[in-house]
Amino acid sequence: MEDIIILGTGCAGLTAAIYAARANLSPLVLEGNQPGGQLTTTSEVENFPGWPEGIDGFELMDKLRKQAGRFGARYTFAEITTADLSGDLKKLTAADGTVYTCKALIIATGARPRTLGIPGESAMWGGKGVSTCATCDGAFYRNMEVVVVGGGDSAAEEALFLTRFASKVTLIHRRDELRASKIMADRVLAHEKVETVWNSIPEEVLADETGNARAVRVVDVKTGEKREIPCKGFFIAIGHIPNTAPFKGQLPLDENGYFIPEGKSQVRTAYPGVYVAGDCADHIFRQAITAAGMGCQAAIEAERWLAQ
Ligand code: NAP
Repeated sequence: MEDIIILGTGCAGLTAAIYAARANLSPLVLEGNQPGGQLTTTSEVENFPGWPEGIDGFELMDKLRKQAGRFGARYTFAEITTADLSGDLKKLTAADGTVYTCKALIIATGARPRTLGIPGESAMWGGKGVSTCATCDGAFYRNMEVVVVGGGDSAAEEALFLTRFASKVTLIHRRDELRASKIMADRVLAHEKVETVWNSIPEEVLADETGNARAVRVVDVKTGEKREIPCKGFFIAIGHIPNTAPFKGQLPLDENGYFIPEGKSQVRTAYPGVYVAGDCADHIFRQAITAAGMGCQAAIEAERWLAQ
């Protein structure tokens, strides 16, 4: 039985681990299938305070991991599938059947990119043209035509980033107005390399004879007209899905599956000793630094609760 378990090793989980470890709680940190979280799929992080020249996302997460380890955080791989938070001891069960119990629990399981589920998407995933991360894969499409799907800030950011490499970026959005903030929308719409295709949704990613993406077929939702847009890279930026499934039925979730914190606190839940932090509980800011801040709050709350 552990005093405290931290679930997740993104910015929120590792910051919670640093604080819990420095409070001498020797936290057990459960690492899932994406150690380091979403930032490990980012190239340069330019807005994390303290790194004036920017820092590689993977390197930042590695440093946070080592920082927590230095003070006594312990790491183990576990894919948690179910949880029972009702007793004094919180119980987590992993896919391999291992059961972990603890007095205090910090859930920092993050979020993953939403996908479209259209034909061709999974066949051309990872290296064959389909991606959810322009910063990871954009450089592969130098002087090629690419497509970005979505109308939010992520899509605008991905499209602008891709203009550094691609010969042309086609932004496909299902409505005729971007959801992105005005500054991002203005920037993307004004960019000479970006063409916007409104009121359209992708139907299928089409492969060439080598199995790599060559085009996407879109349908105009107003006229029903279909057409192919050539693209070697197909980037999906239509939001995220929080990794909260193991806690469904235990903790309140909003309509998109994000944890709803208890009362005015950002990190407390209905269960004393159980806290949430980072992107699994924050669909608004979703920044490395805000996730880290929530991780810090959760660890301090957990420490105080354990002391009581
Ligand atoms: P988002 O704001 O939820 O936007 C998702 C976009 O994808 C929307 O335009 C939506 O269309 C579209 N979409 C959703 N499902 C779709 C589907 N099945 N087919 C086609 N299109 C679909 O998500 P986000 O852009 O990832 O941003 C999430 C949050 O992070 C926002 O608060 C955003 O401001 C923030 N963020 C900030 C920055 C920044 O400040 N630099 C960068 C990235 C994200 P509709 O518009 O029609 O709903």
